[in-house]
Amino acid sequence: MGSLQEKPRLRLGSLVSGLQEVYESGRTRELAWRRSQLRGLLRLLSEKEEEIFEVLRDDLGKNRAESYRDELGALVKSVNHTLRNLGKWAAPEKAQAPLVSFPATALVVPEPLGVVLVFSCWNFPLGLALEPVSGALAAGNVVVLKPSELAPSTAAFLAATVPRYLDSEAVKVVEGGPEVGEQLMEHRWDKVLFTGSERVGRLILTKAAKHLTPVALELGSKCPCIVDYLDGKRGRQVAVNRIVGAKWSVCAGQACIAIDYILVEEKFAPILIGLLKSTLKNFIATPECMARILNAKHFQRLSNYLQDVKVAASVVHGGSLNPKTLAIEPTILLNPPVDSDIMTEEIFGPLLPIITVKKIEDSIRFLKSKPKPLSIYAFTTNEKLKRRITEETSSGSVTFNDAIVQYVVEGLPFGGVGHSGFGQYHGKYTFDMFSNKKAVFKRSFLIEFMFRYPPWDDSKIRMLRH
Ligand code: NAD
Repeated sequence: MGSLQEKPRLRLGSLVSGLQEVYESGRTRELAWRRSQLRGLLRLLSEKEEEIFEVLRDDLGKNRAESYRDELGALVKSVNHTLRNLGKWAAPEKAQAPLVSFPATALVVPEPLGVVLVFSCWNFPLGLALEPVSGALAAGNVVVLKPSELAPSTAAFLAATVPRYLDSEAVKVVEGGPEVGEQLMEHRWDKVLFTGSERVGRLILTKAAKHLTPVALELGSKCPCIVDYLDGKRGRQVAVNRIVGAKWSVCAGQACIAIDYILVEEKFAPILIGLLKSTLKNFIATPECMARILNAKHFQRLSNYLQDVKVAASVVHGGSLNPKTLAIEPTILLNPPVDSDIMTEEIFGPLLPIITVKKIEDSIRFLKSKPKPLSIYAFTTNEKLKRRITEETSSGSVTFNDAIVQYVVEGLPFGGVGHSGFGQYHGKYTFDMFSNKKAVFKRSFLIEFMFRYPPWDDSKIRMLRH
C-alpha cells in the first residue's frame, strides 16, 4: 500500500470499513494467523536490516549500532518474546467461582478488541511504531499505523514494506501529518494508542470521547536522576558511564525516558561533573556518536533554553551550537534557575542541568513538587534511600543504578502516570492493552438455592450471608 496522503478524507472511510470487514471475517482471531504476522515482522526486520539502518540515519543521523541497540535489536527481541509466549497469553485463565455457585467454572478469556489505531512518534520511528503494532496483531486485532511525518524516510519505508510482509488487508500504514491524524480521529476505533506530546494527547482524547473510543496515551515528562554520594572509584565510573550513555547516546537525549536533569549533593557535584566530562570525551569523541537534532524547530527550541542569561551562565561544559548543521554539543549546566524554561519544560535534547541539594534526601521533596514523570532514576547503594524513593514518589517506573534499560525488560510494563500518560504496554502488557478480558461464567442445572429468590423474609439474609 502506498501513501494515502492524496484525498485522505475520501479514502479513510472505506479503509476503516474494509478493515472492519476483515476483522468480522474472524481470520485475525486464529492463533496461526497471529503467529504468521509476527514471523512476517521478524522476516521484515531481518531482510530489510540495511534499509532500516539507512532510513534511521536519514531521519535522525542514528549510528548503525545505536539503531540496532535501540530499535531493530530491541524489536526482534520483543517480537520473539511475544511469539514464544502467545499461546500462554491467549489461553483462558481460570478464576475462582464462589461456593454457592457450585458446580461452576469461571474463566477470563482474552478476546481481540477489533480495529485499532496506533500513532507513533519520530524519535524511535521504527520501534515506537512496530512494537505496539506487533502486540495488537498478537492480540488478534486489525491495525492502522500512523507513523510520524517528522521521520519521513522511516514513514515511507513502513508504508512500502509493512504490506509486503504482513497481511496487507489487515494492517494499513497511513502516512501524513496532523491533518491526517485529525481525520483518522473522526472515525470510531476499538482502541487508540498514541505516542507523542501532551498537547496532541489532549486533542486525541477529546476526539476519542465522541465515539467512546478507549485511548492509551504515551506522553513525555522530565525524568529526574538522583545521584547519591558514591564511595568507590569503580562504582562512580560505572554510574557515570550509564548516565552519559543514557543521556547522550540514545537519540541525543531526544527520548521520552532520557535523563532530563540530575539531583546531587553539593559536595559531590564537582566530582560528578569531572567524571561526566572525561567520560563524554571517550564516548562522544566524534559527532557520529550522537544522533542529530530532529529539525530547525527543535534546534531553536533547545537554543532558546540557553538564551536565558542566567541559564547561559550556568553552563560548565559544552554549550556550542551550529545552526547550519543543527549540531548541539553535549552540554552540562550547574544550577540553572529552577523556574527557568530548561527546568520547567521537557528538555528532549543533549542539555543536562545538574541541581544541587544540601542532603540527597532533599531530592525526594523536590521530585514530589513536580508532575509525575515517566521514569525516576537513582544511583545509590543506600537501601533506605531506594525504599523511600520507591514508596514516597510516583512515576511510570523507577530504575536504580541504570537508566533507560528498563525499557527493554520484557516483564516490566512501560507507560506513564498522571501527566506522563496512561496505559501500559510492552510484552504481555501490550497483549493485554489490545485485548478485552472477557468474563465467562459457566453454571450447571444441578444445584439450586431458593433463598436467592423472593418472596423475601429476613431469614434469607442469614442464608445469603454464608
Ligand atoms: P506530536 O505529539 O506532535 O506527534 C505525535 C503523533 O501525533 C504524530 O504521528 C503526529 O503526526 C500526530 N499528530 C500531530 N498533531 C496531531 C493532531 N492535531 N491530530 C492528530 N494527530 C496529530 O509529537 P512530538 O511533540 O514531536 O513528540 C515529542 C513528545 O512525545 C515528547 O513529549 C516525548 O516525550 C513524547 N514521547 C513519548 C514517548 C512514550 O513512549 N511515552 C515516546 C516518544 C516520545
